[in-house]
Amino acid sequence: MKAALLYKPAPAEKDPLVIEDLPIPEPKDGQVLVKVEACGVCRSNLHMIEGDWVKYGLPSKSPIIPGHEIVGTISEIGRGVEGLDIGQRVGIQPLWTACGRCEYCLKGFEHLCPNKKITGETVDGGYAEYILADWRHVYPIPDNLDPVEAAPLFCPGVTAYGAVLKAELKPGKRVAVFGIGGVGHMVVQIAKLYGAEVIAVSRSEEHLKVAEELGADLTINSSTSDPVDEIKKLGGVDASIVFAPSDIAAEQAIKVTKPLGTIVIGVHVRLGEFFFHEEKRIVGSVIGSRWMMNNVINLAHAGKIRAVCEKYPLEEVNEVLKRLKMGKVRARAVLVP
Ligand SMILES: [Zn+2]
Ligand SMILES: [Zn+2]
Repeated sequence: MKAALLYKPAPAEKDPLVIEDLPIPEPKDGQVLVKVEACGVCRSNLHMIEGDWVKYGLPSKSPIIPGHEIVGTISEIGRGVEGLDIGQRVGIQPLWTACGRCEYCLKGFEHLCPNKKITGETVDGGYAEYILADWRHVYPIPDNLDPVEAAPLFCPGVTAYGAVLKAELKPGKRVAVFGIGGVGHMVVQIAKLYGAEVIAVSRSEEHLKVAEELGADLTINSSTSDPVDEIKKLGGVDASIVFAPSDIAAEQAIKVTKPLGTIVIGVHVRLGEFFFHEEKRIVGSVIGSRWMMNNVINLAHAGKIRAVCEKYPLEEVNEVLKRLKMGKVRARAVLVP
């Protein structure tokens, strides 16, 4: 099979991934082999590939095949697998597997399991023609979904869903979404489903256009105007959701959120001064568990959310990473082997 391998983290400009021919892996007990139809390219893939996470021990194997938002069809089934068929279309998310026994797994928050494995970071991922998956962590996909458009549901989709849940939105509430990339454009749609008024904040006019198409009530270009001034003029927001990888965006989000409000942070940022006397809440959010993932698939199946995608052949992966780094991807780049 063809696969894009990372031997040594390096800047995207240096073409860090190498396309090679590898033997197709064989499913062990409890695993299925999935023929990849589409795999999204995530900003977190870029971080790992460029070496930002070497200090956290990631990738934890070398070489590794990156990629963690995957759709494909089952082509082989190992022993002990139940309820899945050859030819069935499934998705795989960043949570490759979890222990199933710890306090987080038992509460339905297995994405916080200390013994979890992460697709494309601790086990081989989806920048390839085939991938192995744990049968308890694959998600059947309804026929009406296009594999390319469905792939981003498995990271941006579930990540956005988890963040919106934490913001506790409902009709009458107003939310500011900072960063309208792969995740942010899904946040806008899900926040609208909860009935909230949505303000989209981004430095990119192109991204704001996408937000508007997807139902944002107001857009603010943070490179030409100050979102703090603009939002305070409206009386602030009940919640902010931050997916812009920027300390300044996080600071702005804290400022525009009203007392008792919630700031949901879904990217790595440094938080500055925080005024306790307004009783705001800051909460982190990362991917999501299986029940969240299934809710996201149901929303897409019902036509209520969709990913905006650009399609590229697997061989162009290094080019795609460069485009992503330069902010030239409209919403989500998806590789097709
Ligand atoms: Zn991702
Ligand atoms: Zn666990």
